[in-house]
Amino acid sequence: MKGYDLTKLNMQFRHARCEDVISWVMEKIYPDAAMISSFQASGVVLLDLVRDIQPDLPVFFIDTGYHFPETLEFRDRLIHEWKLNVVTIGPETKKKGTSKENKEPLYKKDPDLCCRTHKVEPLKRLKKRSQITAWLSALRRDQNSNRESMNMFMHDQKGHIRIHPLIHWSRNKIWQHIYAKRLPFHPLYDQGYTSIGCFPPECTTRGVSEKRPRSGRWPDSDKTECGLHLDLVKEEEEAWVQQLKTREKKSEKTKKQV
Ligand code: SF4
Repeated sequence: MKGYDLTKLNMQFRHARCEDVISWVMEKIYPDAAMISSFQASGVVLLDLVRDIQPDLPVFFIDTGYHFPETLEFRDRLIHEWKLNVVTIGPETKKKGTSKENKEPLYKKDPDLCCRTHKVEPLKRLKKRSQITAWLSALRRDQNSNRESMNMFMHDQKGHIRIHPLIHWSRNKIWQHIYAKRLPFHPLYDQGYTSIGCFPPECTTRGVSEKRPRSGRWPDSDKTECGLHLDLVKEEEEAWVQQLKTREKKSEKTKKQV
């Protein structure tokens, strides 16, 4: 998406309230903006703040076909109680790797491919066919080491803007907000889960470490992300792209003068 200098926006909003970031997005970008949520604790906080500002904002939920029933029930409860505009998307074909000839499920055989097929590709397809150019999500820096260096405003490799209004919120702050506002939360948190993805135990178990809430995700492998956030362009690369653009402009100017 052209026209926004994300380095400037990151500076401008570095100390801003989450509500101010959302209001800016709605004023400048909506209706070309939407949110992605899996209805975990941070997502509920962001949804709560968004619904006060733009109650009809489309909220996309990726149904992998492997969600806990509690996740789907909780999603439906919030749709009903908060009147959310939730759109569920999912893979085009039935779950891969579950046919009779191929009994071992894909999440066991190749979890990266499984996530790509059931999560990343559905979102990619949606992005291709929709006019949405700015995507809000509840990603936070303290969730894992991969996210530590992420910013509030980032580009993805397609040039869309990804906006993370809760980027500098801590886990404690999320839960303080939930308790203070008496918000509903996913029922599996009360059963010891600290991050909730798909139900196979290869993908989600109860939190292994309080300090690392995502430690229960893919607990027996090196995998830490499903891939939805792996196409974000880091600031150094942004700066590099900016440099290139400045150089291009300069050389165009010089050509005109010659
Ligand atoms: S989290 Fe597990 S089941 Fe869900 S898409 Fe990824 S590998 Fe497949």
